Amino acid sequence: MAAAPTRHPAAMYPHLPSSKGPQIRSCHVAVIGAGAAALVAARELCREGHKVVAFESGDSVGGTWVYSPSVDSDPLGLDPYRKKELMYGQVSKSSHNYRAPEPFQDQVVILIGSSASAVDISRDIYAFAKEVHVSSRSAPDKQPASKKPGYDNMWLHSMIESAHDDGTVAFRDGSSVLADVILHCTGYEPQSSIQLNNQKVGTSLVTPFPMFEMQSKWVASVLSGRPALPSQEEMMMDVEAFYSKLDAAGIPKRYTHKLSVYQFDYTDELAAECGYPAVEEWRKQMYVMSWENKVARPESYRDEWDDHSLVLQAHESFQRYCKASI
Ligand SMILES: Cc1cc2nc3c(=O)[nH]c(=O)nc-3n(C[C@H](O)[C@H](O)[C@H](O)COP(=O)(O)OP(=O)(O)OC[C@H]3O[C@@H](n4cnc5c(N)ncnc54)[C@H](O)[C@@H]3O)c2cc1C
Repeated sequence: MAAAPTRHPAAMYPHLPSSKGPQIRSCHVAVIGAGAAALVAARELCREGHKVVAFESGDSVGGTWVYSPSVDSDPLGLDPYRKKELMYGQVSKSSHNYRAPEPFQDQVVILIGSSASAVDISRDIYAFAKEVHVSSRSAPDKQPASKKPGYDNMWLHSMIESAHDDGTVAFRDGSSVLADVILHCTGYEPQSSIQLNNQKVGTSLVTPFPMFEMQSKWVASVLSGRPALPSQEEMMMDVEAFYSKLDAAGIPKRYTHKLSVYQFDYTDELAAECGYPAVEEWRKQMYVMSWENKVARPESYRDEWDDHSLVLQAHESFQRYCKASI
């Protein structure tokens, strides 16, 4: 899929430092995949004046956002993240293969993980399932399992201690459950990797929209020679300084990519480096208010919100953007 180059960036973005900055060069760029991030990357690369070809292994563009009722099959049961029949007819599968709550009717379900997928799926299935048990890495081992407030059939447990052939699963908090289904809501494993200069490069970090747009702008600008990258030594010092900050704040390294509210400092920094405006204030406020709304109304935050004025600002901003792009 070849993306036609659009106008040169200097024409589209007069603020770009094309005349004052270093020489802008045009590259041939291969974008692997044609999901949302790849489409945005291809657009930004074209805007910057690069020649882009995107390679998609599927038969449509859009990636995750193209819904399909079909699920992955793993007939050999080799992949723990795919559906797998265990002893006693117990089923173990990944949240990646979750589609609808009905198949969980009258089942005893264990969800491993307590982040976004587990939160959504537990709320989806509790009205069908007999019991829902959420196993969380953040729940202290010695704290007894507790019922989730507002639910008659949902419990929060510590991590799993052991799983047995008869279907019994024992938790570190001392409780145990005879489970029909174990659902892994533990995030996404790399689905592919590519070979680059004899090195395997993993390709799977899940990135949200606002971030991959600015990252794409930054990569496109670096490829064209602006801004100049720091030396490898400076980069490594920066990485070490960042890890020291995480250490000092008691944040495990596995949360390196969890930027939370700091994501806007990060995207603003990228924007400044490649000469784009910082993320709009309404967008930042909307993120914070949506988060607060989610905490205050965990059951209905997708349908009720109080930030109408921000929605209005977003609408106006989008209209301005559309007008400017014509
Ligand atoms: C359940 C879920 C909910 C999410 N909700 C949000 C949300 O609300 N907001 C948000 O901002 N983000 C959300 N995300 C994050 C999501 O990852 C991004 O929104 C976006 O889909 C990422 O786009 P992508 O192009 O990186 O990956 P994907 O959308 O996964 O697309 C990857 C594409 O690459 C193709 N591909 C894979 N390997 C190859 C190969 N070797 N060669 C060629 N093609 C290949 C695939 O076929 C696919 O089309 C969510 C993610 C999940 C899983």
